[in-house]
Amino acid sequence: MKRTRVRFAPSPTGPLHMGGVRTALYNYLFAKKMGGDFILRIEDTDSHRFVPGAEEYIIESLRWCGILPDEGLDADGKLASKRSVHNPHAPYRQSERKGIYRKYAEQLVDGGFAYYAFDTAAELESARAAAEGAGETFIYNSASRSSLRNSLTMDPAEVKRLLEERDDWTIRFRMPENEVVEMDDIIRGHIEVNTSTLDDKVLWKRADELPTYHLANIVDDHLMEISHVIRGEEWLPSLPLHFLLYRAFGWERPEFAHLPLLLKPVGNGKLSKRDGDKMGFPVFPLRWVSPAGEVSRGYREDGYFPDAFVNLLAMLGWNPGTEQEIFSLEELVQAFSLDKVGKSGAKFNPDKAKWFNKEYLRMRSDEELTALFMPVLAEHGVSAEPASVLEIVSLIKERATFVRDFWDIAWYLFNAPEEYVEKDAAKFWKSENVAMAREALMETGSAHDMEEYIRSREWPMGKVMNCIRLALTGSSNGLGIADIMRFIGRDEALARFHRAEERLII
Ligand code: GLU
Repeated sequence: MKRTRVRFAPSPTGPLHMGGVRTALYNYLFAKKMGGDFILRIEDTDSHRFVPGAEEYIIESLRWCGILPDEGLDADGKLASKRSVHNPHAPYRQSERKGIYRKYAEQLVDGGFAYYAFDTAAELESARAAAEGAGETFIYNSASRSSLRNSLTMDPAEVKRLLEERDDWTIRFRMPENEVVEMDDIIRGHIEVNTSTLDDKVLWKRADELPTYHLANIVDDHLMEISHVIRGEEWLPSLPLHFLLYRAFGWERPEFAHLPLLLKPVGNGKLSKRDGDKMGFPVFPLRWVSPAGEVSRGYREDGYFPDAFVNLLAMLGWNPGTEQEIFSLEELVQAFSLDKVGKSGAKFNPDKAKWFNKEYLRMRSDEELTALFMPVLAEHGVSAEPASVLEIVSLIKERATFVRDFWDIAWYLFNAPEEYVEKDAAKFWKSENVAMAREALMETGSAHDMEEYIRSREWPMGKVMNCIRLALTGSSNGLGIADIMRFIGRDEALARFHRAEERLII
């Protein structure tokens, strides 16, 4: 059997959307499941859309997610860019493969599958305007190409002259007339498209001596021995052309699998950055600052764990066929198969995304969480002993979704409250409760003894405890009193109580 080789082929036109990371992930999972190779290829032949920093962003995102390619990157994480005698597939950046595409485009011309087109931009524009004037849309295809300036309509000597003289010609695919292209997609099933609906796409441009996406993509998938093309559904309309290109070259086709779109949490349509901005969630793996200075938030900076992010992405469009939702990357590799990827779009649920992080946070060891919490404490000017923080971190983590929540949940373990929540104070700081609370605190050494004491006096437990809690934390909620008192100690608890007595008016 042919070795499984898949590729993730992003264009560095901006930050990688989370849908793009999901595409990379599914490619990775499929490759690993099949014992094959996962390749990263940078499709940067469209120089107008090139955005500085986008390629680095893509690589850093994959690295953060732990889905590193087998090819396309050196062992140290840098893009392998030099053709090496040991690696016939390199380089992996299309701009560095520039020289190889022209001969393939010309091979198609020689075989009658493509032709040279000499129409200038202005000529095409006027053809477009004329069609629109007649209430039609202009398509460069079998119907219109016979009246345009190309090697199918002009005499060979003229063609030869223009090829030499001009530097703005292109090579276009000669789309067959009225043929039904039959295709099979692993996810979408059988698809039929009539070629009359398709146009003669440009494959290669003399102006910059670069191929367009379609040609470069097919040539590279062939040369890199790609067995399966797994990509977003937005590429489905290109599939008939790609099928026809493989046929024209006489090459064996890879299998295709088009992944369902990620959809907005509410309403219809594709998940966009605007949805994230509106509802307060990131749509990019990492924070991104555009060349114009516009900032987009990232999952990493928002405090997501990479394995939680990978897990939640895996579940957007794929299901294991069981109730299991939490999967490590290794478990995903084991469970993954393309036949469990759905056809219909996957609605993104930001609350569910948080749920995943919460689950992963709870699975983290107390030691690891303590190490993550220590710098947060330092930021707040707290110098605490890791050993004592370790004692309470397991209580805090039960209530948190992100490590950054830790401070909000437990700041009062480290600082005495400066203020008291007004409505809680009004409810719990009553003179009779304060008197009982003071006595209970003074007479006992620990929360446990205190409870015993309150019980023996037949005092109202809830009222007394809430009164103490208000003094210790400034509000009526928080961690268990026993835990708080154990952490801050009896002296600090008493000090805080006396402070509350000074500050709170009954
Ligand atoms: N360069 C294309 C993109 O940016 C790749 C599409 C494909 O995988 O064929 O998504």
